[in-house]
Amino acid sequence: MTKEYDRKMKLKEQSEKLFRDKCDDNHFTYLYIDQSQMKFSSTLWKDMASKRPDYILSVPHIGSIFVDVKAKEERLFYKDVFVNYLNKQPPKAFRIDLEEVEKFKKLQNETSMKVWFAIMPHQEETVANEIFFFPVDKADKFIPIQHYDDPLWNYVQIPETCFSDCGKLAYNKCAKCQEKYCEKTKEYISIWEKQHRK
Ligand SMILES: [Zn+2]
Repeated sequence: MTKEYDRKMKLKEQSEKLFRDKCDDNHFTYLYIDQSQMKFSSTLWKDMASKRPDYILSVPHIGSIFVDVKAKEERLFYKDVFVNYLNKQPPKAFRIDLEEVEKFKKLQNETSMKVWFAIMPHQEETVANEIFFFPVDKADKFIPIQHYDDPLWNYVQIPETCFSDCGKLAYNKCAKCQEKYCEKTKEYISIWEKQHRK
């Protein structure tokens, strides 16, 4: 296997261990979803290919959710727009593939269970000891209509401050966000377009 593959597997392993540890700390019950091909039960599950959630997590008094655990690189949220136009420090953000968001929404519809991302920032080969939770449904707030017309925007950018931590899974607001980035995404993209498409 290639070095890059090894690195990704290492990160995946670390992120899953951290996820399980945090769940144990918070007394959440989780089930690991076996990913082996032989055990796919339906076309729905097969269609998801490598993009299936990894766990079913039971949150006391709330219910069960699917969780997709992943290690991700930290990026800067609409960096060019913030630095060159708004003269502000861009917040750290994660990028999530739109295709993945769509697949998870389909899974939600078919199963009546919500899907959440559990994202851990990573450096080269090490995952940080921090988990950012985010419900798939909320990604829509960061996907202005331009996204769907333009193959360039095949991912959605979500600031870290808009994620929740373990203790606030049921809390329906951005955990630490004062800025309401989600409401301004359309504006950021318009500025970006002006900058890049003269
Ligand atoms: Zn926010």
